[in-house]
Amino acid sequence: MSLKYYTHGRRDQMKVALTFDDGPNPPRTDQVIEILNSRGARGTFFVLGKWVERFPQAFQRIVESGHCVGNHSYLHEAHLGDFDRAEAAIGNLLGRPTRFLRAHYFNFFTCLYSPVALSRDMKIVDADVNPADYAKSDPQAIIDATLQAPALAGGSIIDLHDGRELDDDARRLASPLPMIEALPAIVDGLKARGFQLVGLDEMELVDAIEWQPDGRGTFAAPEARAAIEGLSRKSN
Ligand SMILES: [Zn+2]
Repeated sequence: MSLKYYTHGRRDQMKVALTFDDGPNPPRTDQVIEILNSRGARGTFFVLGKWVERFPQAFQRIVESGHCVGNHSYLHEAHLGDFDRAEAAIGNLLGRPTRFLRAHYFNFFTCLYSPVALSRDMKIVDADVNPADYAKSDPQAIIDATLQAPALAGGSIIDLHDGRELDDDARRLASPLPMIEALPAIVDGLKARGFQLVGLDEMELVDAIEWQPDGRGTFAAPEARAAIEGLSRKSN
């Protein structure tokens, strides 16, 4: 039982990948697309199946704008089988399988139970630059956490969030997303350092890591958590 995931691409190329989790979240996702497009940058959107079903046009706008999309589960609660359910929702609109997958809270354990995650053409993707934008209200703090991240280098994968875990539309729309304000300076700052901003489909991912239970399953659904604990007991 082995599961490999990637945190970065080739270090000898000046490419970085901006990734956006938890959308689509219209109209915020559209603002992200506009910022990227106006600067000649591509991004990768790790979408949730439940939001793709609720906002299919917003998902289509990501695809039509030429950005890369990946599977980030259906419910976002790390249930077993969630990636497969999400893939059905995404594939229905995309018309082809996704090639990149990111697990909720980087808990890759549930991938072991997913035919979609384990399929040969699927790459499971972590990030090496994590500005924790979801926990910051000051755009400048997000800019600094990204551009001054010690790990930032050629091949870096940067994890940002264009979505909000809010079912109620009024609350979702009222909820500020300071990442949007930070994004122009992030893109410009990366380009000023000579980085090309590419989709994950333009980056050669290297140095795959073999997944081990690493404590990141704490947020998983109870049945997944119980299975992780069972696995750690077995390997000890
Ligand atoms: Zn997420």
